[in-house]
Amino acid sequence: MKRLVCLGALALVGVVSMVTTQQAWQERSTLVVTEVAENLYMLGNEPGGQGMRGGGNTGIFVGSTGVTLVDTKIFGYGQDIIRHVREITDKPITTVINTHTHYDHSGGNTELPDAVNFIVHENTLAQMSRDSCERVTNCEAFHGGNAKYLPETTFTDRTTIGSGSDQIDLYYFGRGHTDGDTWIVYRNARTVQTGDMFARKGLPFLDVANGNGSALEFGETLQKAVAGISGVDTVIPGHNDVPLVWQDVVNYSGFYNDIVDRAKSAQANGQSAEQFVESYSVPSQYSDFAAEPDRLATTVGYIYEGQ
Ligand SMILES: [Zn+2]
Repeated sequence: MKRLVCLGALALVGVVSMVTTQQAWQERSTLVVTEVAENLYMLGNEPGGQGMRGGGNTGIFVGSTGVTLVDTKIFGYGQDIIRHVREITDKPITTVINTHTHYDHSGGNTELPDAVNFIVHENTLAQMSRDSCERVTNCEAFHGGNAKYLPETTFTDRTTIGSGSDQIDLYYFGRGHTDGDTWIVYRNARTVQTGDMFARKGLPFLDVANGNGSALEFGETLQKAVAGISGVDTVIPGHNDVPLVWQDVVNYSGFYNDIVDRAKSAQANGQSAEQFVESYSVPSQYSDFAAEPDRLATTVGYIYEGQ
């Protein structure tokens, strides 16, 4: 995979007025383009850094007549995305798909041309359209004059855009990280973009409180995705700094569902959630996955509560 580092993005932001949200970081994150397959690129953060930085990974697909973007990072990175697209192709950005509503995946939407066709799952449109929301949901971004950026194209279970080498399949397999997580398959590139249903090789952030996500259904949704998606080798994860492979998704489902199963039986056997968390260690076959203590406690807490 070819990697093109854009050093220009290292410059500090001088225009403080552009930074209107708490999430836009004062220091610009370096974005890195990785060629994933022919006509498909991942615009991510520089490997090795810490924290949110520019937000989630962006997929850049160069179709025969235009560019499709999947996810648009944190507000303030829209121009960076456009600049990186221009380094790849002269074709116009025609389509934007958001994997879900969160500010680090849809923040740049309002910085793109409003003629773009924005596509999301119907539940994500409902989240984006809320009058009020906790900040991760990003609904304030679409208030007032920015309502023109609300997606006009939605789907329920599955839809396809483009044909032939341009074909992109969108799947909804159920609740998990939120209630509107889309899995995007770039057919010709044999690549899936997972959003935060598979952010990295660690336990997920579960947006149960505001995004109607579910710890229990997260596992079921992973299983449905593993069963329902075929012809994929490569994965553009939600936040991991480099692309991963399909077997990682399969293993992620195994890793996560193993925790669900163990937590359910611990609960049935009268163990407290705290006792279970204390006793848990990552099984050896999933040793490349991390069970961060705080995420584990939160996840197990939701499982015990039946959420
Ligand atoms: Zn998210």
